[in-house]
Amino acid sequence: MPRAIYAAIEAGGTKFVCGLGSGPEDLETTQFPTTTPAETIARALEFFSSCARGPIAAAGIASFGPVELHRDSPGWGRITTTPKAGWRDADLAGPVGMALGAPVVFDTDVNGAALAEHRWGAARDVDDCVYLTIGTGIGGGAICDGRLLHGLLHPEMGHIRVPHDRVADPFPGVCPFHGDCLEGLASGPAIQARWGCRGADLPAGHPAWELEARYLSLAVANLACTLSPARFILGGGVMAQRHLFDLLHQYTLALLNGYIASARITDRIHEYIVPPALGSRAGVLGALALAETAAG
Ligand code: ADP
Ligand code: ZN
Repeated sequence: MPRAIYAAIEAGGTKFVCGLGSGPEDLETTQFPTTTPAETIARALEFFSSCARGPIAAAGIASFGPVELHRDSPGWGRITTTPKAGWRDADLAGPVGMALGAPVVFDTDVNGAALAEHRWGAARDVDDCVYLTIGTGIGGGAICDGRLLHGLLHPEMGHIRVPHDRVADPFPGVCPFHGDCLEGLASGPAIQARWGCRGADLPAGHPAWELEARYLSLAVANLACTLSPARFILGGGVMAQRHLFDLLHQYTLALLNGYIASARITDRIHEYIVPPALGSRAGVLGALALAETAAG
């Protein structure tokens, strides 16, 4: 029996990546800049019709946010209060489902990435993991017992509060809602605003990285205590600074102080907090993984 074909859309604020295939190994992809909703969705649909290999079983959309994820809400499948021009209340899932005549699974980009890392990447051997992206913003997705955690809306792990010593770090934070939440203190723009220099241009020994690892390890320790994942995957532009992982391992061990009695943490911290395995394909594979969930 031929394998089901899925349509995948990674809907990003600057680019869309679309894929069509039955799995990561045969996924045909294309990408184009995000312009207006109508034009961008039309390009995606054009791609799906041009390389159709039979009926599409389901579509997955992993979208930038904020998004409406409640199936029973009239706004389901839409991007909601984004400041991105023209995209406020843009309906993504509606027109895609209508054009493809297939069920659509719609979720956040970070939930998609968490699912893809669990399905094919750095968390394929565990049932519970947390994926954090440290980039322009900070976002997180959690897999609990093999399923994405949604809760009321979806987790907002970037906006948790972490202790902020204003003597050691007088920087007030950049989050427009909270000032010094985790995203306010540790996102790429926070690093740039605090030090007056892009993170990519700060040398490895710069004090910025010790502070960054302190905040991220506080987040990891808090999430370890609340969600009890078997692995943390940390990606996003800032984590291109691979030396952060060594500091994170060290600081997280110190914060948890042996209290969570799992050898995964106490003996194998290097396997407990890891970089993503899917690289630049994580986004579109996230959308593919979402589409696959429509079947089961
Ligand atoms: P986005 O979050 O917009 O999807 P990224 O995950 O690439 O995109 O994150 C972009 C942020 O990461 C920017 O704030 C940028 O300054 C920062 N960044 C990108 N590359 C590096 C790097 N090599 N070192 C530190 N920070 C980086
Ligand atoms: Zn915030």
